[in-house]
Amino acid sequence: MSRKFDAVVLGTGAAGLMCAIEAGKRGRRVAVMERAEKIGKKILISGGGRCNFTNLYCTPENFISANPHFAKSALARYTPMDFISLVEKHRISYHEKTLGQLFCDRAANDITEMLEEECLAAGVKIFLNQRVKEISRTTEFVVRAEGEEFRAPALVVATGGLSIPKMGATSFGYDVARQFGLKIQKTRPALVPLTFGAKEKREYCDLAGVSMEVIAQADGHAFRVHSEALLLLRSERFYESKIHFPQYAELFEGFSRIAFPVIAFFGPGVLVVSLDGSARRTQD
Ligand SMILES: Cc1cc2nc3c(=O)[nH]c(=O)nc-3n(C[C@H](O)[C@H](O)[C@H](O)COP(=O)(O)OP(=O)(O)OC[C@H]3O[C@@H](n4cnc5c(N)ncnc54)[C@H](O)[C@@H]3O)c2cc1C
Repeated sequence: MSRKFDAVVLGTGAAGLMCAIEAGKRGRRVAVMERAEKIGKKILISGGGRCNFTNLYCTPENFISANPHFAKSALARYTPMDFISLVEKHRISYHEKTLGQLFCDRAANDITEMLEEECLAAGVKIFLNQRVKEISRTTEFVVRAEGEEFRAPALVVATGGLSIPKMGATSFGYDVARQFGLKIQKTRPALVPLTFGAKEKREYCDLAGVSMEVIAQADGHAFRVHSEALLLLRSERFYESKIHFPQYAELFEGFSRIAFPVIAFFGPGVLVVSLDGSARRTQD
């Protein structure tokens, strides 16, 4: 069966749904195709299940991009306040955690439900359990999924990045870009995992759940970490704690799993951890 639309969007993540809503509001007939059985699965796990949906102080300078002007034009046209207004329109209660980060009071599915309602209001049609297998282009794009064919003159690929392969992340979007001869920027991790040993786990498990500004030093590089970059220590999987160093990800590349020696200063001189085995507390 072949279905015809003005635009087909692939993926019901945050990007695909926002795009579909805006296109729908502009009067386009939009289809969104999703391989999973429900929408926005990554949103549901975001922000520890409460979705850190925006930041009050989000500016273009907070983004690392091969095209820094993109963040300028995007944020000039859609500001954090625009998203906050949308959240308030849907009566979703929220709070500021730290450093301008806004989280849902209840749960992240408040955000997915809001996006689904906005899709409905904009006439966007969502098709679940549709894993896209093949895309071709004649006079228009032809997208083939499970037994169905979708056609449209405009195609948006919003199938996500490479993070969390356990949740099904693949290189699909990059493969489509290659198929159509689009230039691809080198991908980099935004979260850099440091694998802790059993000894460190024993020693520092009481720090589980701590999240704070840090200064870190690794392999001869020292980083004063800005307010948006935090060290998170996760409780039950402490050994997989992640350091948010988006700005410096490239310096940590290939280094993260053999991170010795690494020294992280927790807070202003409160604690020094050296992952070469000489971890110690300098103050309580
Ligand atoms: C643990 C964790 C916590 C996070 N917390 C936050 C937070 O609090 N705040 C924040 O702003 N960001 C957070 N992020 C980052 C944020 O979740 C992502 O940047 C964002 O969800 C990416 O959205 P996306 O639409 O680009 O991709 P995705 O959410 O990955 O969506 C892509 C969609 O495409 C679908 N798809 C893929 N291939 C196909 C195919 N072949 N056919 C059909 N469908 C396909 C996928 O099933 C998926 O639904 C977090 C990320 C993680 C992993």
